[in-house]
Amino acid sequence: MIRINDIKIAAYFSLYEFECPCCRRVMLSPDLLARVDHLRRVINRPIYINSGYRCKEENQRVGGVPGSYHLLGIAVDIHIQDFLLSDLLIYAQEIGFNGIGFYENKNFLHLDVRSGPKHFWKG
Ligand SMILES: [Zn+2]
Ligand SMILES: [Zn+2]
Repeated sequence: MIRINDIKIAAYFSLYEFECPCCRRVMLSPDLLARVDHLRRVINRPIYINSGYRCKEENQRVGGVPGSYHLLGIAVDIHIQDFLLSDLLIYAQEIGFNGIGFYENKNFLHLDVRSGPKHFWKG
């Protein structure tokens, strides 16, 4: 079966990894993709994208904030198996995502490429 969005778009990623799980629609910032691909290269382990692009309905379903950057295709939530989240944070900070959310209990990082000053929070 040929899957929609099964298109290699970077060294380590295919488009479907960023799509909305409910409707398969996707928007993706080239800048975000380049940074996540860079992060993948530096860490040298598979990056699981828990959430990439979200349509409005999906964003509501997962309890995202109304103006979530996931709606704009400029945010991802990522997870790496058997890797300390605090170490992943250091790599992500070095690469320079403008928004970084540190969700220690749920073991994922939110990364985005919003414009303006850097923004860090713990969830
Ligand atoms: Zn959707
Ligand atoms: Zn997020």
